[in-house]
Order: sequence, then C-alpha cells, then structure tokens
Amino acid sequence: MIVRAIAGLVLACAIAVIAMHARALTRSGMVTAIILGTTVVAAGWAWGALLFTFFFSATGWSHFQAENKLAQAGSRVAKAGARDSVQVVANGGLFGVAALLSLISPWDGWLAMGAGALAAATADTWATELGMLDWGGPPRLITNWRTVPVGTSGAVSRRGLLAALSGAVLIALLAAAFRWPPWVVVGAAAGGVVGSLGDSVIGALWQRQRWCPRCQMGTERAVHVCGTRTEHLRGIQWLDNDVVNLLCTLIGAIVALLFAVW
Ligand SMILES: [Zn+2]
Repeated sequence: MIVRAIAGLVLACAIAVIAMHARALTRSGMVTAIILGTTVVAAGWAWGALLFTFFFSATGWSHFQAENKLAQAGSRVAKAGARDSVQVVANGGLFGVAALLSLISPWDGWLAMGAGALAAATADTWATELGMLDWGGPPRLITNWRTVPVGTSGAVSRRGLLAALSGAVLIALLAAAFRWPPWVVVGAAAGGVVGSLGDSVIGALWQRQRWCPRCQMGTERAVHVCGTRTEHLRGIQWLDNDVVNLLCTLIGAIVALLFAVW
C-alpha cells in the first residue's frame, strides 16, 4: 500500500502539473487533484485507472470544439476552461471518500459507491461538454420540454443523453475489466445515467439562476462576462453548479449502492 501511495503521489503530481500548465486545472485544482489522485491509487490501481479515465476524457472533451462551445454558452455557464479545487471536489470528492473507506475496511459496497459516483460525474461531464455544441438543433428543458438556449441549466438533448450513456458505460466497462463484481458494474452504469438525469432535473428546478440586466440574459455568473453584477433571478441561492454536480455524484453513488443491497 505504501509503495502504491508513493507511486500515486508521483503520478498524480506529474499529471496535475502538466494539466495546470495546459490550463485544464487551476493552481488550487492542481493541489486538490494531487491529494485525490494519491488517495485513490493508494486504494488500488483500479481506483486510479477509473479516476484517470474520468479526468483524461473530461479534459479531452472540454478541449474538443472549445471555441464553438465558448461562443455558444460561455456567457451563460458559471465556469469555463480550467477546473478549480471546488470543481475537483464536486466531481471526484465522493469517489475519493469511497476509495478511502475501501482502504480502511474493504467492502464491495464502497466499490459500488465509488464507481456509481464517478460514472455519474463522467456521464454528466460528457453530456455537458458535448451538449454545448450547436449540433442538431437547440436543447430542451428536462421538466417542460420547451426549447432553451445552449448552456441553460437542466437542458437536455439527444447528443447529450447519448454522451451521458457512453460515459457511464465506459466507467462500468473499466470496472468490469478490473474484475469488480458484476452488480457493481451494472450499478455503476445505472447510477451514471440516473445521476446525470438527476443533475438536469435539479438544474432545471432549483439551481441558482442569475440575470444580467445589461445583456438582458440569464447566466450562472455572479459577475457577467460584460463586467456587470448580475441579479438573482430564481432558484436556491446556495445551489450553484458545483453543488448540483456533487448531488449528481451522490445520486449515482446511492443508485449503485442500491444494487449492492438488492
Ligand atoms: Zn452582461
């Protein structure tokens, strides 16, 4: 375990430093990613492989057609580009806790919790990154099916749903490759899809939305890209995009864990 922890530290440092220089992580995001990466590799190489798959796929997709997405949704979404420590915790925190728990006291339930949480984070990230492209018409709000601008919280599209399914299945297949129990694999796939759908529902119903009086448009930003301070439009004040992402991984973990109990 000590050897794995040291190897994990070296690997996590190398990847996180490169990621920061490539502007995939901020400085705080880099530090948090190193702690997370070391913890999960200490728990096992399978945990490490799952995390790196999430991270590399998320980074890859966020670079894919980046200018197109920035033009489409850059003024609406809260954060674009480099991921900070809060975003790292929101997406990978629960996975890290599951890894730590399995290190302390091995149980298949922790595998389910971790795989479900990470499958949800992967599904949601893939859906967000690919859903923001302007391919195949505008997205629709998951609650009332009305068409909304790209980048609106709670918006879903066919390509976004397909991306979510692919991301969840990839994590599940990787867990299967590491011989994690079959119900953990199935639970992770289900948790990933349900978690990302839950993210959309919470995003549509309760996520904090702000309004830029100057540009006359909805946004998630407290200070808009034009420099104007935005006003509260609707939703719960503290429920920002990061909290919604954390809830998404929590739903994924619970669904996967239910498969364990069942
Ligand atoms: Zn504005």
